[in-house]
Amino acid sequence: ILNPDEQTRNIYTNKKAQQDAQKAEYAKLHGKPATTLDHKTFALYSNIGSPNDLHLIDENGSEGIGLFRSEFLFMESKQAPSEDQQYAIYRKVAEHMKGKTVILRLLDIGGDKPLSYLNFPKEENPFLGWRGVRLYKDNPEVFLSQIRAAIRAAAYGDLWVMIPMVISLEELRWVKQQIAEQSVKLEAEGRNHNPHLKVGIMIETPASALIAEQLATEAAFFSIGTNDLTQYTLAVDRGNTKISDLYDGLHPAVLRLMKMTCDAAHKAGIDVGICGEMGGQLEATPLLVGMGFNEISISGKMLPAVKYTISKLQYDECRALLNNAIAANDAEAVRKLLQSVKH
Ligand code: PEP
Ligand code: MG
Repeated sequence: ILNPDEQTRNIYTNKKAQQDAQKAEYAKLHGKPATTLDHKTFALYSNIGSPNDLHLIDENGSEGIGLFRSEFLFMESKQAPSEDQQYAIYRKVAEHMKGKTVILRLLDIGGDKPLSYLNFPKEENPFLGWRGVRLYKDNPEVFLSQIRAAIRAAAYGDLWVMIPMVISLEELRWVKQQIAEQSVKLEAEGRNHNPHLKVGIMIETPASALIAEQLATEAAFFSIGTNDLTQYTLAVDRGNTKISDLYDGLHPAVLRLMKMTCDAAHKAGIDVGICGEMGGQLEATPLLVGMGFNEISISGKMLPAVKYTISKLQYDECRALLNNAIAANDAEAVRKLLQSVKH
């Protein structure tokens, strides 16, 4: 605003003062765990796309990386990065985190993210097509180079791998089998590696949420991808602006699938996190607290605000709220319930 008048100047001066006060509140929690008023603690992680995002870890006070989107490494070059190139990057990230968890997502290409050097067929419905784990068997070179790089880098930190777009136990078993086979090969080659790295799955299809109990018997952990889970549950293309008002993660159908997933993970004793954008959506924080996530992984700079919000909540109240939310008729009713939460 050029040459603002006095009134405009006052509005923005006040806004800035409010923001500064809020930042000072957030700063008081830096380096402390995210804990509710009744002492339930949540690990807060960050999402990253490359080592260039590692500065977020220190700035946000992240306790780990809940989603390392590896596809950006593949999308920014004209050919697939080699095993050694990937290994160097994954190792760098693992070492930077000094023993804190790094969840590396295996290549999630397809849907809205094609790769020029993979032969993509023309698809009527790319989001329902050749995407994520479905590509691996057809591209063994790309897939094997990535898992070998990950198994090797896992010797230098707490690196886990996570499979995107899972709909069946068979897909998880197949990836675990490939990891076991490559570990044997790396051992024979005398390369440093960690054959025991945790292998988990993203829950981002309704199918995987609905069979979460079965998947929990063989997955080391779950991470809920609410971006896709919302799109597939509501049958709303996440990139289509014409219907963006229908794309709403607070729809009780999405919340129900999330809760089923968390309940199945808790029953099986495995970790469950969230890595979709809902992790940084403050209006949803009470619901995420109610679900009892082990870890919430957040994009960008929202982590301090989420931590502050959690610090004002009661876990018991959030659980009761969640039970009401999944019984609500629509997202609007869920929002009304959320407005009743004190924080
Ligand atoms: C998700 O679907 O919620 C997710 C985290 O994956 P992406 O947004 O990369 O598809
Ligand atoms: Mg996804």
